[in-house]
Parts: sequence; structure tokens; C-alpha cells
Amino acid sequence: MPTLSFAGDSFFSPTFVSPGCIPTGGLPWLLAEHRELVCPAWLLRGWRGQGRIGRKAWPAQLLMALVLLRWSENLPRETAIRRASTDLGWRAAMGLPADVKVPSDRTVRDFERFLRERHPDIGVHRYVLLHEHIVRLCLDRGIGGEGAIWGIDSTPMWCFGACIDTVRLMGTGLRHLARWWARATGESFARVAASWDAAFLLAPSTKGGFDIDWKDREQRARAVDALAKAVVRIVGEVRRRVGSIRRRFRKRALLLCRGLAGIVANDLETDVDGRLVIARKVTEGRLVSFTDRQARNGVKSKSKRFKGFKLSLVGDLVSGLITSVAVTPGNQHDQDAILPLIARAAALVDGIDELLGDSAYGFAEKRERVRRQLGVTLVSPPSDAAPPTAGDRLTKRDFDIDFDADTATCPAGVVSADKVWRKSGERHVAAFVWPRAVCDACPLRERCLKGTRRTQVLRLHPHERALRESRELWEQASVKRKYRRRGEFERLVGRMVQLGGRCAKAWGIAFARFQAHCIAAINNLGLLAARLAQGAAAQV
Ligand code: SF4
Repeated sequence: MPTLSFAGDSFFSPTFVSPGCIPTGGLPWLLAEHRELVCPAWLLRGWRGQGRIGRKAWPAQLLMALVLLRWSENLPRETAIRRASTDLGWRAAMGLPADVKVPSDRTVRDFERFLRERHPDIGVHRYVLLHEHIVRLCLDRGIGGEGAIWGIDSTPMWCFGACIDTVRLMGTGLRHLARWWARATGESFARVAASWDAAFLLAPSTKGGFDIDWKDREQRARAVDALAKAVVRIVGEVRRRVGSIRRRFRKRALLLCRGLAGIVANDLETDVDGRLVIARKVTEGRLVSFTDRQARNGVKSKSKRFKGFKLSLVGDLVSGLITSVAVTPGNQHDQDAILPLIARAAALVDGIDELLGDSAYGFAEKRERVRRQLGVTLVSPPSDAAPPTAGDRLTKRDFDIDFDADTATCPAGVVSADKVWRKSGERHVAAFVWPRAVCDACPLRERCLKGTRRTQVLRLHPHERALRESRELWEQASVKRKYRRRGEFERLVGRMVQLGGRCAKAWGIAFARFQAHCIAAINNLGLLAARLAQGAAAQV
């Protein structure tokens, strides 16, 4: 691999021109001193930098250093390139002599695309391999070693595309479709809008196209209904006539139709009067942006909602090392992403036995799977345990279950071995039944049986055993004491946010994942730089 390296005492060396341009212990210092270590050649194999001049001559390690410097300051690509042309510290970090011009925007963009590709030998995205490589470097130097306390958490990551409401989504989608249809048929936009009987498309905004008071509930409902019916009609018409336009326009036209049909299916419902109204519900595929189609509505807490993605991470709250990150659509529950996330962390670090997580990770089914498959115990408050009932009513918690003997004992001390299967929603669950005669004569029946029931049927949770075990574990004072430190994990989440994890810098979940791994790598490189600088100072 060709390099643009220079002798340390050259007149063109940035450190010769300005000896104090890279303070010890920072990322530029780490890259200047240990670039080969941080950017290994095996990871960058396949980069085209084999030429002698022009874009093909830029070495991968130099570009890698520039990408890391860019993400360390959360700069747009063009700004980072401009900075590299004037900042001697950055030039020293990249190994770029003072008299050599900086790579072009296109070269850096191509290199970032190269990092987002899968490594041909390993089949994993290069940015994931880079992050894992840096985690290993940190672990080798004792960061995240003895005394580490591992935790897991997530935070919202807003999408890059414009998020708009259902009315604007339908209007914008129709305008995209009309513009595309006009291109495909060679007609003007106004003519297409007129032929579709959709004059509102000619207005500067969708809401402005309807001459109504949008604060008036009745008028608004009528406008939404008219707009939704126009979408259904136009999508049907375009689908019917798509065979008449040139082949190269068809795919995009059908894609836009699919997006619009999806909005009507997911965001609208029919009311009692047969009108299409905006549904007050959460659906899996609900679009929030026409420009960022993978972004979804997310809920962080009862009052906190967001649009975009969810950034999850596993790390050590003592050292600040982030071992694995994942970006999922905003509507995906925290617990759905944990298996691959924890598996990656456990593959990198020996001895992750326990993970502190909030109640979002306390569901019995996932806890049990994580414990069985990965040998990791999630220390978090049980989420799916039934809340204690007010008053003196007996609850499921007052019944003992012997899972080995397959029996249950009620608060009156009556043992039932009568296990049956009962339908509960979509699935069948196990239940213990007590004889009616016994319950009729029981002094506790008023507190035990609900309403007009004559006998007790105790339905078990599909993961009742794991649920009871986690509840018992949670009752232990030592576990609660341990859990008190979970709050410190917010520091790691805050660090990711500080480095630019709150908002995606480009469209799509693929880029958001790349961005999340880059900033996690920057966090870890900061720890590594501090540790190596300490070692260097100790040697002096
Ligand atoms: S009502 Fe039946 S199940 Fe409930 S405590 Fe009495 S005997 Fe046990």
C-alpha cells in the first residue's frame, strides 16, 4: 500500500513546522503515533489506493484517520476536509505533509462507502470490524478489565429526513408521484394534477391546498377523508396505467404508489360514518418521513416520543468502554435488539456475567433467552410481573408453584396437581385448577375468587418460572444495591450523544449504524489514547 509518509525532521512535516500541534493523549496524537495500530492493513484490504497519482493514490490509513477525526468533532464531510487543509495537528494525525493537498470530497465519500461494505474475507461490515478491533486494543491495555461493571441502555436517534404528519406525508407523496408521472409522460405538472382532479397539488403546501380552517375538527376530518380518497384513487389509476409509461420510470412510480398505499393502510382507519380518519394507534410500518423511509415513531417513556431510530449500547460504566452498539427502527422495543447486541459484547469480552439494565430489559422471556444462550444475567426490575393489587385481595404472587413437581399451593394451603391448558389471546397457557367444593368451603374465597367465579383457575405466564426467579432475585438486597449503580450508565449514553449520536447525519438506517459505530470507536479511542499517553509518560 503506497503511503505519503514523510521524515520526522522534514521541512514539510507538520510537527516540524509546528512542534506543539498535537497535544499528547488526544486522538490526533494517537493517530500520529500509532496509526498502524489503530488502522490495521487487514481491515483496509481491498481499498483501491494502488495508483501513483490522483484519487487512486490516496492511502487507506490516511483516509481512515481523516474519517475518525471527522467523527471525533462531528463535522460535515466538507468541513472536515477544509479543516484538514489548514490544521497542522490533523495533517500530522493523517500523516499528510504540509505541502500536499487534501483528498477531495468524492475520495472521502468513496472511502466512507468502502467502510460501509462488508469485508470480503470476514463478511462483516468494515466499520463493525474497526470498532471491534479498537475494543480489543482497549481490553489488551486493561481498559474494561478487572472491576468492570457492564450495563445496557438505549437512547433515541432522530432520523436525518424531514419528519411530517400524515396529511403532509400524503400530500408530499402525491406531489412526488405527480412530478414523476409528468416526467414519464412528458406532460406538465399542472396538467397531471388537473387530469388527476387534484388541484390541491398546485398549492404551495398540502394544507394550503384545502380552503378550510384546520382547527375546526369537522372541516379537518372532511379534508383528511377527501385527501385519503384522492390518494387511493390516484394510486389505483397509476397502477393501472403504469404499463403505458417507459420501462425506466415504472419502478419508481410503483415504489411511490406503495409508499402512499402504506400510509393509507397504516395511518388511517374508517370511522362509524365510513370516513377515513387518522388512526390514534401505533402500527409497525407507520412512515414518518418520505425521505427517510426506515425511520419510525418511537416511545422513550410515557411522555417522550421521537421519530427515527433507537441507538442501543453495551459498555463498562467504570472505564467508559463501549463494547457493542446497535441501531434499530424507533418502533422496535429495546428488548428485541438485545440478543445480537449482548452476543457481540460477550464474544469480545471474557467474563460478562451480569448486565445492569432498566425495566425495558426486564421481560422474563428475553432474560431467560439471554441467560440460556449467552450465560449473561440481566439485572433489571422485572417488567412483566403483575402489579400488586390494592386492598386485601389475594394475587398470583400469593400462590406457590413447584415447577419440578408440577403442583401449585394456594394461600389456604390446598395443593393442586390439576394442570390444564387454557386459551389466552393467541396462545394456550398452562393453568392450575382447584376443586369447586374446596373453594366453596374456603374462608379465603372472598379475597381469592373474582366476581361470580366458583373455583380458582391460576393461569401461568409462558415464562412463569423465569418470572418468579427474577422477582425473587430482585427482592435480594445485594441485587438492589448493585442495581443502584445503573444510573452511572447514563454517562456513557450521554457521551454517545455528545459525540453526535442524537441525530443521524444522512438518510437511512445503514448510515445511522455506520455513524453509531464510528462515534463508539471515537469514544474508545479517547480511552486508548489516554492509556497509551500514561504509559509513554511512565517510561520517560
Ligand atoms: S378459594 Fe380455593 S384456591 Fe382460593 S385460597 Fe381458597 S381453596 Fe385456595
